[in-house]
Amino acid sequence: MLNTASYYGDKLVTDVPIDNYVYKASHNKEKNFTLIVAVPVEKYNEFTMRNTKLTGKQFASISIIVSIILLAFIFIIYSRITSRYFITPLKKLIDGANKLAHGKYDARINLKTTNEFADLSDAFNVMAMKIETERILKEKSEEQRKRLILDISHDLKNPLASIMGYASYLNKCNDISEENLKKYLSVIESNSIRANNLIQELFQFSKLESTDFTLSLQKQDICEFLRTLIANYIADLEDKGFTYDFHIPEKSIFVDFNSKNLDRAFSNIITNCLKYNPPGTKLLITLTSYKDYVNVAFCDNGIGIDESKLETIFNPFVRVDESRNSKSGGTGLGLAITKSIILKHNGTIKLHSSLNKGCIFNIHIPINKHYNKEI
Ligand code: ADP
Repeated sequence: MLNTASYYGDKLVTDVPIDNYVYKASHNKEKNFTLIVAVPVEKYNEFTMRNTKLTGKQFASISIIVSIILLAFIFIIYSRITSRYFITPLKKLIDGANKLAHGKYDARINLKTTNEFADLSDAFNVMAMKIETERILKEKSEEQRKRLILDISHDLKNPLASIMGYASYLNKCNDISEENLKKYLSVIESNSIRANNLIQELFQFSKLESTDFTLSLQKQDICEFLRTLIANYIADLEDKGFTYDFHIPEKSIFVDFNSKNLDRAFSNIITNCLKYNPPGTKLLITLTSYKDYVNVAFCDNGIGIDESKLETIFNPFVRVDESRNSKSGGTGLGLAITKSIILKHNGTIKLHSSLNKGCIFNIHIPINKHYNKEI
């Protein structure tokens, strides 16, 4: 067969059609005779197509190549799927764990899978969130502890410095009038009382704050208890020119409480009212019983507390106005102690107040459902 164009006599023999004919030439073994065939193009195409058959070797090679391509393709797709299901989530989990280990407590893992890795990432996120919350609480309590120590040392420093100063002066001074001696001794006495009060209150506060410390609560009539407590303050209220009103049910309402500590909690609120408000202030104390609790409310129409302070007023050493307090001699622990006592009764305390609008302290103490069946 001829693949290139050539002439046999005056006839061109070629694969390229000429005048819609393809010319093909062939000869016999001895090469003494040549046959030239002219085939119409359309017949030629039919003829050649029929004859393009693959040999066994060609077929095998093509099959191997196609199989390799197919295998490679399957491998790529499989590795993509594997990566999406295993490697990517694993990488994200390792990355999150590393961040956490390096103190990035806000690290969270966001997986878009629904397999076991999703459960694992959820568990990781919950754990990271808990660690972060604990960490914040720890930092906060560490800050509070430092502030507490600073406040204690600050509040103890002044009375102790004054005691030391006057005592040393009296020790050195040989010539002192009786009047001055009395004056200095009374300064020493009042500062000793102040320092002692602070230490006593601190002791009580830290005892109440301790989780191991529990109050022993006894079933008692809270109405009777409140009436007796208030009676002790009538003289003080009148001396200071306060007006007052009390609404306490005549009947008995039995509640579990520790009378010594509840006395302390309620007294703090009443003495604060007396200490910080001017004559003419009205104090109203009410006790109302509900199904599960009693509400004891202490309301005054005095100077009130600025709303910005309401969130922190029950924290130790928080005072509204330092100058006002130094005169009153308060330690800044009164309301913190009150709150701790109420919490030890499983109760709540809330303050509603704004400047010049007075204060309302609402205290809830739970009622044992087996008591007071008639309520
Ligand atoms: P303190 O020992 O200073 O009295 P407390 O914890 O008892 O400390 O009270 C905190 C602050 O709240 C007080 O310093 C006072 O400024 C303010 N306060 C408490 N009760 C009243 C009230 N009824 N009216 C106005 N201010 C009050």
